[in-house]
Amino acid sequence: MRVGLIGYPVRHSVSPNFQQAAFDALGIDATYELWETPFDRLPGVVASLREPDCLGANVTIPHKQAVLALVDWIDPTAAAVGAVNTIVRESGGRLLGYNTDVEGFVRAVEYDGHLDLSGRRVVMLGSGGAARAVSAAVVGRRATDLVVAARHPDRADDLLRDLSQRGFTDASDIGRVTYLDNRDGALERAVRECDLLVNATPVGMARHAARSDDPSAGPVHSDPAPTLLVRPEWLTPRTLVCDLVYNPPVTPLLRAARARRARVLNGLPMLVYQGALAFERWTSRPAPVDLMRRAAMEALYD
Ligand code: NAP
Repeated sequence: MRVGLIGYPVRHSVSPNFQQAAFDALGIDATYELWETPFDRLPGVVASLREPDCLGANVTIPHKQAVLALVDWIDPTAAAVGAVNTIVRESGGRLLGYNTDVEGFVRAVEYDGHLDLSGRRVVMLGSGGAARAVSAAVVGRRATDLVVAARHPDRADDLLRDLSQRGFTDASDIGRVTYLDNRDGALERAVRECDLLVNATPVGMARHAARSDDPSAGPVHSDPAPTLLVRPEWLTPRTLVCDLVYNPPVTPLLRAARARRARVLNGLPMLVYQGALAFERWTSRPAPVDLMRRAAMEALYD
């Protein structure tokens, strides 16, 4: 059997490392492949998932939205978020679309961050695709307050409106939008009072060395003056600071949070849980999560 990752580019993904380790550990005869897919090839690649030798796929940037139109059924959470990151092939070739980023984030915060989202105040930086999944998780788990800080507040308004219109009706009640540059002091006030701060922007991510067409180019930590979107003095020990970035393992934001004795969580647990949930949908078997996490860490950090 085969399963794979649809995206462009995908060559730096560590999904094959931890998914293949899981298939092998459970003795499942499946190969996890990388399917580098430019836009014009997307319909053909998705259609090929209907073949009987295919379990399904993961979907990543830039195709998480476009595949909504190419599958036969969409899970309500994926429809609310407006993104599919997992496709499952049913017998008969029907394709089902899911979003496991939402539950992956919940598990990361609850299992690894030891924080129950219910009744919490959350500040989220960014309003892109990952921010949509985080917002659905936060609203779905009944947080009381969600502040979305964005460079383009209109995009954050769209995010909250879309969620509230697509089944997460509380999004418009608990959600507020603010400027990421703190021009009116609102971001500072919200961060000082929050229980959970989430960075859902790529700020802090390791850059890739050399030319992007050089497959041997690994990530380097090359930013000489790492950018912080929040000031370290706003962070307090009561806050869990979660960076969705997983490479480097300790981002500038997490380093600043540690220095302020806040608790920290990087993006690796979410990455592994969303993959484990996809694995369980493809195989109907419990995923070996600890083994998947070790394989991901080896691939990323060793
Ligand atoms: P995306 O859809 O491109 O959204 C990026 C967001 O970050 C947008 O709101 C963008 O603002 C903002 N942004 C980008 N550069 C910025 C900067 N220099 N300063 C301030 N804001 C900036 O990307 P995404 O898919 O949401 O991914 C965001 C990050 O999350 C990436 O690092 C990705 O690797 C990570 N991620 C991790 C996981 C995981 O499992 N751990 C899952 C998904 C994503 P504008 O709209 O103004 O451009």
